Amino acid sequence: MRKKIVAGNWKMNTTVAEGVALAKAIVKQKKEVSKDVQLVVAPPFTHLVPVAQVIEGSSVALSAQNCADQPKGAFTGEVSAAMLKDAGCAYTILGHSERREYYGETSEKLVKKMALAFENGLKVIFCVGEKLEERNAGHHFDVVSTQISEVLFGLTPEQMADVVIAYEPVWAIGTGVTATSEQAQEIHSFIRQTLAAHFGGKVAEETTILYGGSCKPSNAKELFACPDIDGGLIGGASLKADDFIAIAKAY
Ligand code: PEP
Repeated sequence: MRKKIVAGNWKMNTTVAEGVALAKAIVKQKKEVSKDVQLVVAPPFTHLVPVAQVIEGSSVALSAQNCADQPKGAFTGEVSAAMLKDAGCAYTILGHSERREYYGETSEKLVKKMALAFENGLKVIFCVGEKLEERNAGHHFDVVSTQISEVLFGLTPEQMADVVIAYEPVWAIGTGVTATSEQAQEIHSFIRQTLAAHFGGKVAEETTILYGGSCKPSNAKELFACPDIDGGLIGGASLKADDFIAIAKAY
């Protein structure tokens, strides 16, 4: 059975005190969620250590939102994969559309980041997804398969066991517009076929593929009922413990 994951991407939100309170509330309410669902929280860098202390022993896992493309040294403002591991992270998100759009995150950089994440024992939540104009032009399958092939096809099947893919159509992120369950299932199934064609059926069947983009308690059940959707990467709705837990309870 594929792992089901509901991960909260807090982005650049909350003070440390607010983040700690949010993590405490999630840990408290975690018992309402099926044991089959792995909860992950991805706070800002400054919150990682205090949030790690809150979630210790709880089965909620810690993720960073990004990591550096260099191992260490004179790279002012960057945070390395080794530092994230040391802070208590099990995962890092890589390739979020906001990083691609605002910070020039190319596939070339993502290949380096992914290698460093693995070297340091981190799993990766790798984001892909098309922009509105790309979907309207009917290019969404091409965009997603290129994002996948450029970064993931250099990995071994063993490394793929530490990759979670998050399909996040850019037009659905933070907009309140969600992909319909048909649109999401269609592209999740396509992603699985793309993996199968390159890595074989076993890797494709075992890879967790999350949906992200305005996922909320009211639409999570329908999305998560799709056969190729294995959970969600949640932005806005992950900032309220009640909503985050309600989404995870959709399983
Ligand atoms: C995200 O940015 O990963 C995301 C899914 O955001 P939102 O849920 O707010 O659309």
